[in-house]
Amino acid sequence: MALDPVDAVIVGAGGGGGVVAYELAKAGWNVVLLERGRAQTFAETGHSELHSQRTTVLGNAFGPDDTRHLRIREAENGRWVKVLPSDGAYNNVAACVGGGTLSYGAMAWRFLPKDFQMRSTYGAPAGSTLEDWPLRYEELEPYYAKAEWEIGVSGKAGANHFEGKRSKDYPMPPLPFNREASLLAPAARKLGWHPFPIPMAINSIPYQGRPACVQCPHCVGFRCEVDAKSSTAVTVIPRAIATGHCKLRTECVVKEVLLDKKGDARGVAYFNADGELVEQLARVVVVAASATETPRLLLNSKNAMHPNGLGNRYDWVGRNLQGHAYSGAFGLFEQETWDGVGPAARVALCDHNHGNEGCVGGGMLANEFIRLPYLFARSVRPPGAPRWGQAHKDWQRRWYKRSMGVKGPVQEVPRWENRVEIDPVAKDAWGIPTLRLSGRKHPSDLKTGKYVAARAAEWLRAAGAIEVVETLPGMGLSGGQHQAGTARMASEAKLGVVDRDCRVFGTSNVYIADGSVHVTNGGFNPSLTIQALAFRTSERILAAGHPGKRG
Ligand SMILES: Cc1cc2nc3c(=O)[nH]c(=O)nc-3n(C[C@H](O)[C@H](O)[C@H](O)COP(=O)(O)OP(=O)(O)OC[C@H]3O[C@@H](n4cnc5c(N)ncnc54)[C@H](O)[C@@H]3O)c2cc1C
Ligand code: SF4
Repeated sequence: MALDPVDAVIVGAGGGGGVVAYELAKAGWNVVLLERGRAQTFAETGHSELHSQRTTVLGNAFGPDDTRHLRIREAENGRWVKVLPSDGAYNNVAACVGGGTLSYGAMAWRFLPKDFQMRSTYGAPAGSTLEDWPLRYEELEPYYAKAEWEIGVSGKAGANHFEGKRSKDYPMPPLPFNREASLLAPAARKLGWHPFPIPMAINSIPYQGRPACVQCPHCVGFRCEVDAKSSTAVTVIPRAIATGHCKLRTECVVKEVLLDKKGDARGVAYFNADGELVEQLARVVVVAASATETPRLLLNSKNAMHPNGLGNRYDWVGRNLQGHAYSGAFGLFEQETWDGVGPAARVALCDHNHGNEGCVGGGMLANEFIRLPYLFARSVRPPGAPRWGQAHKDWQRRWYKRSMGVKGPVQEVPRWENRVEIDPVAKDAWGIPTLRLSGRKHPSDLKTGKYVAARAAEWLRAAGAIEVVETLPGMGLSGGQHQAGTARMASEAKLGVVDRDCRVFGTSNVYIADGSVHVTNGGFNPSLTIQALAFRTSERILAAGHPGKRG
């Protein structure tokens, strides 16, 4: 079945796709937004700790499900093994309207100017594909500001000593410090560092018809009870639909981008909620399916002009998968440090993002999000501390409120070998060839991780910790919640998958609007950068004017 052409079809109603839907629909384009997941309400998942997007003991609350989805992953011993979405090795974000932004922690970071120039700053370490972005911070700055105002971010302009120039203040003041932040901020100053309130895509005051955060003790991993968290599901997507120009179709799994003889897109083929194969014809195709599913879709879309997959003439599709080499420390204190006030992460510093002796990059450090007892039991435990029975319970009771975690998303050095490709055998429930993942972190990441973890430990000691344990990144492949890099932006086709406008090389009408296009992933959670780029890409799509005409 082929449906009448629309101006644009967008694959994925997540962090980036929602933004493009809004911008194009607002400009009067007729848009279809296809999402494989559902629109989920708070009542469906509530605050079930074992069934969130962070603790998948009972499955992924926000998808995808284990029954219809699978991936193949290279194990430590080099063998290919099957992994399901509720397994951490699947490298999942989410599958629902809002994508990862429905349950995310909502830290809303701008990358620093140097994050766009990693190769110029550090050189390319051996065995890496470290590169500069073909864009500078200054070019993205107006779109960061736009994202902050359209999505809704609270923060304090000028508070981050290291931030690049900004054209506008935040639309809302920052959330107030909690007890942890009040202990950590003076300790950081004592060390000569520069602490400041974390910019959050969370309403600190009522904004755009949504209420202020009620500081519940369940934030990251859950849908917000009052919709104070600025997910695309409650911001740009409903606004896109309200224009009358955007149709959201859920439970629609896109199989491939349909290509014509020139190598341009005709539309996409997808399985609808009834399992029927439908062709949605469109003049422009925007792929925003996440940095693991976007390369899968490109590699599954072939014709004579794209024999190795859409945009894959130079074998860049799926390469450079990266996330963050999370590093930090936790500390135990004599006094109670934990006041149970959400979203908990309140104070950060960027003193260790760059300029760390002998390291390539670094990462922002912040106090940890709200602590689920399950996660506390698994991850906050000094070596030798009891993990079972009465002694474990006593330990948990004694230290749960007398501990603090500080950690940061250490910027990864990308590697060509870290990749998403199509498995030659495995298929999902719709018969679509599934992806397989392989690779490991660059050795430089561990060195930088150790440096940043040592700074986290120093911070906790200065705040009064009586015992501190550093937490280091594993060397296995990253690219789960913060996945990026697999359809790199580049100045020429030989060096990547999309151009500066995020248009796929070798096409006139296929764009990518998700974390795939990141050349490097900053020392920060990535969604504000994904969204700033999505605002910029939307502008470029509209400026290209007549869809289908080679620009
Ligand atoms: C628990 C958690 C906490 C996080 N905390 C933060 C944070 O504090 N700050 C931050 O910046 N980031 C955070 N992130 C990361 C953030 O959510 C992601 O960076 C962001 O959502 C990525 O946006 P995207 O557009 O690349 O992809 P996504 O948001 O993943 O959107 C992709 C969408 O495409 C859909 N899709 C995929 N394949 C298909 C297909 N074939 N057909 C149809 N639809 C398809 C998916 O279902 C999904 O909805 C967090 C993520 C998680 C899960
Ligand atoms: S802490 Fe605030 S933003 Fe987060 S889920 Fe609770 S009410 Fe919503």
